[in-house]
Formats: sequence, structure tokens, C-alpha cells
Amino acid sequence: MNQDTICALATANGIGAIGIIRVSGNESFEIANKIFEGKNLEKAESHTVHYGFIKDENETIDEVMISVFHAPKTFTTENSVEISFHGSPYIGKKILEVLIKNGARMAKAGEFTMRAFMNGRIDLSQAESIADLIASENEASRKVALNQLKGGISNEISFLRNDLLNFTSLIELELDFAEEDVEFADRSALKSLLHKIEDKLSSLIESFQYGNAIKNGTAVAIIGKPNAGKSTLLNALLKEERAIVSNIAGTTRDTIEEILHIKGHAFRLIDTAGLRETVDEIEAIGVKKAKEKVENAEILVYLADAGTEDLSEDIEMIKSLLREDLKLIICATKIDEVIPTQYEKLEQIFRNAISTDFDFIKISAVENQNLQDLKNELSSYIEHLKSEEGNVVITNQRHYEALQKSLDSVNRVDEAVSSQITTELLAYELRNALEYLGEISGEFSNDEVLGNIFSKFCIGK
Ligand code: GDP
Repeated sequence: MNQDTICALATANGIGAIGIIRVSGNESFEIANKIFEGKNLEKAESHTVHYGFIKDENETIDEVMISVFHAPKTFTTENSVEISFHGSPYIGKKILEVLIKNGARMAKAGEFTMRAFMNGRIDLSQAESIADLIASENEASRKVALNQLKGGISNEISFLRNDLLNFTSLIELELDFAEEDVEFADRSALKSLLHKIEDKLSSLIESFQYGNAIKNGTAVAIIGKPNAGKSTLLNALLKEERAIVSNIAGTTRDTIEEILHIKGHAFRLIDTAGLRETVDEIEAIGVKKAKEKVENAEILVYLADAGTEDLSEDIEMIKSLLREDLKLIICATKIDEVIPTQYEKLEQIFRNAISTDFDFIKISAVENQNLQDLKNELSSYIEHLKSEEGNVVITNQRHYEALQKSLDSVNRVDEAVSSQITTELLAYELRNALEYLGEISGEFSNDEVLGNIFSKFCIGK
């Protein structure tokens, strides 16, 4: 168990109505009592709040409320207190100083959560989901993180692991009776379990694409020739005059990235410089950037002025940017300026020239026509990523890698069963698979991995 009593500011560092300092460890009450003029906190009931003053020897620092939490029903499972003070960063600093003077030490980043994990209150994937929850910036990522915190991934994985563990025990039992050539583990039942596990792992692995979209947003590159209406569209979508709109070709020089939320999902819109061949050096950097942005984008929204007669440059550009895993949406813009037959003709030309499947949308950003169609199209991309099974979604790179390794090793077990390999080797492969599955919940972990995970937390969490 941890001996030190740790303290840290739990609220954001800055001026607020209230600031909270969290203290956790065996000596929390003893230390807090030394600086608190009010009730004896050690004697106070758990989960109660007490009024009083923080003192540095004879000097009163602030009027506070202290919440008392007795082990083990606390976040860290240790005794802890939370001091709510008047939210000045200066007062917070003073209180921390007095706590340290009286025997506490400053917590390291993520140390409270690490204690919760070390003391067995939460598993590793739950600890990570706390970091995700704090970092969540949209509805979907909040939901997924909360689901993980409740044990979503852990349950799914431990269910798989238990079944596999049962078989491993039987196989290992066979090793003990090696002389007698008995088979405790029914190989065909093992085979069907392995297939079940492979399916589950594959679907979790597949959910990572959706998980990633939830956590990091989906990158959308908005591309089109100068004056196609990129900035205007961007502004209309964001309803803010962020990008500089101008009718002088090539004025949107720097890449601008803005977040658009549609149905709780984040889309990172990337507006880029026009894709015109040019001698202007600054503009040329923009063109290069555009190509780079499309490389990182999942969706390409290509804008073409509905009044354009010659689309050969646009077609050439689209073809040069296309990739198999890139969703393409072509938008005819400024439809308020042309008659319908014109943009219908435009669609036909694109359809004849581009063999890949794409969505065609006709918009007017100025008159706010059909922008909803574009939003629906973006949002449908995310809907398609959702796995059939829905609930459990992998959002974490570490989990993704551990699942991948698990799947590889389960595949090896599968092959091992088919090839009638020795029981020793089969047991060895099974142990490997169990270990990889255990990495997700932290049943198998090393200090380096833990250090890496918790160092990404903020101090006070
Ligand atoms: P960009 O170079 O692709 O970013 O193009 P801009 O967004 O700067 O637009 C170029 C010009 O087209 C500006 O004068 C806009 O006001 C105009 N424009 C953009 N969208 C529309 C539209 O939907 N309808 C009309 N009539 N004009 C538009």
C-alpha cells in the first residue's frame, strides 16, 4: 500500500467561485486536522461536509468546507478529504503549502487514479477512460468514455478471458496426465470457442475506426479551385466569420481547421488554399498542404462552382486525390446563380468521368440551401462505422494494439489445434493469448506501461 499522503489542486488552475484541493492517504485526517479549525475530521462520519478555517499556525488562510471520506469507499480507497476554498489560485497555493508543511506531498500527474487502480478499485481500462472522460469534448466521446468507466471493455474482455482460462486449465491438466494420453479438453469445443473469440476480437478491433472518429473527430478536407466557395461554405457551416472570405482568387492561404458537431460527432473541417497551379510561392505551399490534408482526411468534400463550363481541371484534381478509403462528396456550389439543368449537367459530367462511387450535393452557402444534405451525408459516414454490436467501442490505441496481439495469438492457438501440435505448445500459445487479453484490464502490466499511461493525466486526478 502507498504510505505517502498526497495532495493536489483538483479544479482548474485559475480564478473560480470555488477551488478544490484533494488529499488522499493514511494520514489525510491527521494532516487536515493540524491545519483545520473546526470539527475533528477523524471522528467525522464518512461522506460528510464540515465548515471551518484553514490555519497556518496562527494565521487564518481561508474559510473553507471540508468533505470527509473514510477508506475504503473513496476514489482511491484510502482515507481522503477535499477542501473547498474560495477559488483564488493564490489561496490554493497557500493551502497546498500548509498541507505539505504538515506532512503531505504534492501528487504526481494521475497519482490519485493510479492509486485507485493499484488498490484494485478500478482496472486499467477504466483508469484510462477517466482520462478520456475529462478530455471528452463531444457527446459521443463522453458516452463511450463513460461506458468504459462502467467497465464496458473490461467486462467484454474478462468474459472472453474466463472461457479461455477454463480451457487452458483443462489443457494443463492434460499435461499432468501426459503418460496416460487423455484429452480433458474437447478439441472441437475449443475450436468453436476460439472462433467465437476471434469474432469478438475482430469486431472490437473494427470498432476502433469508429472509436477513433469519436475520440479524435473525423477529418474532412474541403477542396476546390479558388473561388469555388470553400470559405463561404465553411463559414456557413460554422455560422461564424472565421475564415477570410474574398473574391480575389487564392486569398485563403493558411490551412484553417475548425470543429463542426453533427449529431454529437465531431468533424474537423479543413479549409485549404485553392488547388490551382500557380507560381505564387505562398499559394504553392497551400497547394502542397491541401494534398497533405487530403492524405490525412477520411472524407473529401470537393466543391465545384455550379456555373463552371469546363470541369477537366476539377476531374483531374479529384482523380489525383482519390484513395480507396476516402469518402468522396462532390458539391455543386452557388446553385442560386444557375438554373437546375446546369447543375444536373455538372453531375452527369462527374458521373461519366469518375468511376468511384460518390455523393453529389447541390448547395448554396449564401442562401443556405441544402447545407443540411451535406451534414446528413457527413453524419451517415459515422453511422456506417458503427459496429453491428454497437455498445462496446475501442477508442484507445493501447487497447487496439493489445487486441490485435490477442487476435494474432488466438489465431495461432487455432492453427495449433488444427495442426495437432503438442499439448505443451498449445498450452504455451494459450497462456500467451491470456496474457495479451489481460494487458487491457491491467492484469498483466509493467511499470513502464503504467508510468506512460498515468503521466498523461493532469495533476490532481
Ligand atoms: P474560396 O476561394 O473557394 O474559399 O471561395 P470563397 O468562399 O471565398 O467564395 C468566392 C466568391 O464566391 C465570394 O465572392 C463568395 O461570396 C461567392 N460565393 C460563395 N458561395 C456562394 C453561393 O452559394 N452563392 C453565391 N451567389 N455566391 C457565393
